[in-house]
Amino acid sequence: MNVIEVKGLKKSYGQVHAVRGVDLSIPAGEIFALLGPNGAGKTTTVEILEGFRNRDAGEVSILGFDPKNQGRAAREWRNRIGIVLQSAADAGDLTVIETIKHFSSYYSNPRNVDEVIAAVGLESKSGALIRNLSGGQRRRLDVALGIVGSPELLFLDEPTTGFDPEARRAFWALIQQLRGTGTTILLTTHYLDEAEALADRVAVINNGLIIEVSTPAELGGRATSKALVSWRDGDHIKTEGTDNPTSVVTRLNAQFNGEIPELTVTRPSLEDIYLTMIGGTDE
Ligand code: ATP
Repeated sequence: MNVIEVKGLKKSYGQVHAVRGVDLSIPAGEIFALLGPNGAGKTTTVEILEGFRNRDAGEVSILGFDPKNQGRAAREWRNRIGIVLQSAADAGDLTVIETIKHFSSYYSNPRNVDEVIAAVGLESKSGALIRNLSGGQRRRLDVALGIVGSPELLFLDEPTTGFDPEARRAFWALIQQLRGTGTTILLTTHYLDEAEALADRVAVINNGLIIEVSTPAELGGRATSKALVSWRDGDHIKTEGTDNPTSVVTRLNAQFNGEIPELTVTRPSLEDIYLTMIGGTDE
């Protein structure tokens, strides 16, 4: 059984058709990224899956549970999921450790609080008041609150917005570590490098519809798209687009009789591919 199973999901706000028929199947242990421009329908989709918004149509099963249901079963279900919203921590007069301890008390199988603080790199801020944290440190606290309950499924909504590059890499390592424990993760992000570093599969959503679901390497025909070979030839940098970069390099190798000056072989980045896909369908 898939951890996330969505069929024909629809949601409108008045005349705005935010989600127009979304299907998703995400197996246990997968890191799945939802990519799309502002207003594409990502937050609407994710918040329906989290049980925070109602849907107009479609079927949703999250860990075998329909999040539109309420009551005791919903509370037990909530115990099994972790959520990192776009800045959730708001208890300005509590310290970092007090806040995480408080959140951990809601869960039946919480992680060790000191371990969680270390995992998000907030050891030196453990006794600091939340209102005195920097933006990036607050975001790390949000992540700590999302993982303190040992969730089977973790929702991460733009988790590294405001992180410096070092903090982002540290966060990626934390997510890789969670992957090792079998946690299923649904990530929304505007950072294509983040999706590439973390996601097993990505879905591109635009205007409320999924355009494609694929691995980051294969999205939009990326794996088979032309490579660009470039090298220095005297005063000029030459560039050649090719389906067969090895043969170009072999030819150049013979031509230069050894080292090819300033040789690079590149394929379109995930961002290049993504922007082409979005550009073709954006309103
Ligand atoms: P972003 O990347 O900016 O967070 P998103 O992909 O998460 O965007 P949504 O927040 O799901 O997009 O919004 C999808 C569409 O639905 C947008 O046109 C938005 O204006 C509209 N919308 C979202 N929430 C509401 C609401 N509560 N009431 C009315 N319209 C809404």
